[in-house]
Amino acid sequence: MTSVLGRRRFLSGAGASLCLGVLPRCAGTIGAGAQGAARLQLRPLDASVARISRITVCTRPFRPQGPRLDVEQIAGKTVVHNYGHGGSGWSLSRGSGEIAARKALATGEREIAVIGCGALGMTSALLLQRAGARVTIYAKELPPNVRSSLATGLFTPDSRICFERYATPEFKTLWQGMCRRSYQNYSTLLHRPGNPVEFINQYEIADEPEFRRTALETDADNHFAELQSELTPDLLPRGDAFAPGAHPFGQRRVRRTPILMFNIAQYTDYLLSRFRSQGGRITLREFHSPAEFAQLPEKVLINCTGYGAQALLGDNSLVPVRGQLARMQPQPGIHYALLYRATLFLARRDEFVFQHFRGEYQGFNDVSTDPDRAEAELAVNTIAQLFAAGV
Ligand SMILES: Cc1cc2nc3c(=O)[nH]c(=O)nc-3n(C[C@H](O)[C@H](O)[C@H](O)COP(=O)(O)OP(=O)(O)OC[C@H]3O[C@@H](n4cnc5c(N)ncnc54)[C@H](O)[C@@H]3O)c2cc1C
Repeated sequence: MTSVLGRRRFLSGAGASLCLGVLPRCAGTIGAGAQGAARLQLRPLDASVARISRITVCTRPFRPQGPRLDVEQIAGKTVVHNYGHGGSGWSLSRGSGEIAARKALATGEREIAVIGCGALGMTSALLLQRAGARVTIYAKELPPNVRSSLATGLFTPDSRICFERYATPEFKTLWQGMCRRSYQNYSTLLHRPGNPVEFINQYEIADEPEFRRTALETDADNHFAELQSELTPDLLPRGDAFAPGAHPFGQRRVRRTPILMFNIAQYTDYLLSRFRSQGGRITLREFHSPAEFAQLPEKVLINCTGYGAQALLGDNSLVPVRGQLARMQPQPGIHYALLYRATLFLARRDEFVFQHFRGEYQGFNDVSTDPDRAEAELAVNTIAQLFAAGV
């Protein structure tokens, strides 16, 4: 692979604050709305490393070519694939699930199996059910013991979704459709009991006087596609800026953008309780080879095994991309996200999460899931600096 490490997207502040695939930030829109408006008030966060309750690590199922959505015949079954969504699995699950469900239903069958119970499996199963199918999910692990349960929980549909060289016009059209359908659907889930999905304000904070973009390194073909520019402005909410004196973070620059967030535990509950209440069945089962699909009563399967497809199908196009979160119990009155010096803090309702980004290719091809305490403390301490002088 050509040199891709260290390739940077947008810089913000003294340290490289990498584009996390959080669309509004990448849009680079700074409205003047809050300039001169009332002073921003935020309840201070107690970001102490002593409060870290757990550190979780998992691998994103990245495919350079993008998610796999083709159909093939295996062991006498029609198998619709729906895996390989990198860092965008929650974000694209609805749009991708619709495509997979449509292909499965096009066979005429109405008894359908879904293999896997992560973001893609749960969503595909529910969509099939809504279209009138009888659905059984078969999976070796269920939430919260699936990789999807360890995600950050932001709408990041362009995060590690494919390499630029595979982002053909056809792929961009497919991706944009998935993105748009997903976003529309998540918007209908706002304000539901438990807040499975909601908007939250993200404050991007920079030490430097201005937020700025830098030229990208262009020597590498193997870099993640930047697809956010393919989206129309209705999916890219504008942010507004706060000058020093108008916010609680001293002389730093602050930009506020509303972002779409998944409260992972609540959204999982929403999907699974709907599925079960409409007669959906879930069977714990591990498949050791695709030949075992022949043992299922259903003739049509949607394969949502995520990174598990590498072992199950021998799909070596899957590349693990390691990601780690430090977690804390929620604190009352804190409901915002912060992005500072390549570190994200997100006040999810189920758990607060902190994530540090050393570089865009951090964790690339890294299958290890050992927690890195130093990285977790760095993430928490970086955010703690913002509150050191008292907000
Ligand atoms: C740190 C981190 C943060 C992330 N943050 C975000 C984010 O903010 N927004 C976003 O959109 N995405 C995010 N992602 C990416 C997202 O988590 C993944 O894209 C998504 O979880 C993939 O879901 P999945 O359903 O394909 O896979 P999984 O969740 O891995 O589910 C796979 C299912 O298949 C089953 N399975 C696998 N193999 C077999 C087998 N052989 N037999 C039977 N069952 C099998 C598993 O048990 C499981 O039930 C993040 C990822 C990481 C690591």
